[in-house]
Amino acid sequence: MNVHESEKICRLLEDMGMQKTDKNDDADVVIFNTCCIREGAENRAFSNIMKLKSLKIRNKDLIVVVCGCMPQQKNPKYDPIKDIKVADIVLGTYNTHLLGEMLKRFVIDRKKIVDTNEYIENIELDAIRDDKYNAYVNIIYGCNNFCTYCVVPYVRGRERSRKMGDILNEVKILVAQGYKYITLLGQNVNSYGKDLNDESTFAILLANLCEIEGDFKIKFMTSHPKDLSDDVINVLSNKKMVRALHLPVQSGSDKILKLMNRKYDLNHYLSIISKVRKAVPDIAISTDIIVGFPGETEEDFESTFDLIKKIKYNQVFAYIYSKRSGTPACNMADQVPYKIKNERVNKILNEHRAIVEILSTQYLNKTFNCLIIKPNVALTDAGKDILLKEKTKQIGVFKNIEVKSLVGKTLFGEIKE
Ligand code: SF4
Repeated sequence: MNVHESEKICRLLEDMGMQKTDKNDDADVVIFNTCCIREGAENRAFSNIMKLKSLKIRNKDLIVVVCGCMPQQKNPKYDPIKDIKVADIVLGTYNTHLLGEMLKRFVIDRKKIVDTNEYIENIELDAIRDDKYNAYVNIIYGCNNFCTYCVVPYVRGRERSRKMGDILNEVKILVAQGYKYITLLGQNVNSYGKDLNDESTFAILLANLCEIEGDFKIKFMTSHPKDLSDDVINVLSNKKMVRALHLPVQSGSDKILKLMNRKYDLNHYLSIISKVRKAVPDIAISTDIIVGFPGETEEDFESTFDLIKKIKYNQVFAYIYSKRSGTPACNMADQVPYKIKNERVNKILNEHRAIVEILSTQYLNKTFNCLIIKPNVALTDAGKDILLKEKTKQIGVFKNIEVKSLVGKTLFGEIKE
């Protein structure tokens, strides 16, 4: 989501006549589009911002902007005025569209601007898309779920869906421009339409997008297991949908899921996985896991570990729980010591690596509809490279690729005519 927001900021600045540079020394304006979802990301952002102090001394005209969810926090770890002195403009998640005006104002009066006001209306910005094949499209902003570990509802507000017609028009344009993957974005895409007071649902949106003509596929993230409806599962088998689904489980223990306020239990999650696999047998499933949530006993952790072995995910993103100030979990009793969290996360990652090796052997002699991204590389819907035995000129085209051999973890395949 932040990547796409950065793409929008780039468009806004380029429209003002600026050019992108990755070198701080060459820049007139340095922008930090921050994320505070995890403590590590927030600390890294703060330390990178502070590193600009010396550059600011050398270049008095340099303008430093800090935006994204870090300044939007209700109980910020860093006060945007007192602690982030190096920043000239600080703006929250609701007002990126005001950045142009703020820059102009700052150039004239050189007075620090801080604006983290919450605007009800979303102003949709155009984006400069960095990726040649994938285009991100926001469909819903904010989140109503209040998982007890998560800061998102506090920094991104309640759910606001975009109008279906606007999304369809944007996707039609992107497909006409040649994008091959359209990735729909939302904190919980399954909630799409609930706030629109019309017939819009996520399943209907997907079905309508699948009707758009062109050689492209649709992905989405992120999907909350409690809201993944049978209607959405039915659309997953459409050939315009990628054969990949990210479904964060977070924990395999019902006790921990309850403490996390995830509003589903393990049985419900397993029933969804089984319905999805029945509807789309070759689908690749990935997940997020939080290890060491407050109160997680060895037994709770083993339930998560067993789940990893049972589902055999194609990809697992496992994170150590980190306290986020202002969230209920931050003050929960029985915080798990770091050493134990670290051991647990490593155990999960090691197990997952072993599973991936076994899964790779199962790719042999199977055929995947892939995008050719280089003369000798095809990409599966789940983001796995297959090296082509013979080079092709059909770059940017979907082709069926049969996996012929496996060397280590590398797959080799041939185009199937
Ligand atoms: S659904 Fe996702 S974004 Fe919303 S509160 Fe839960 S973890 Fe955070």
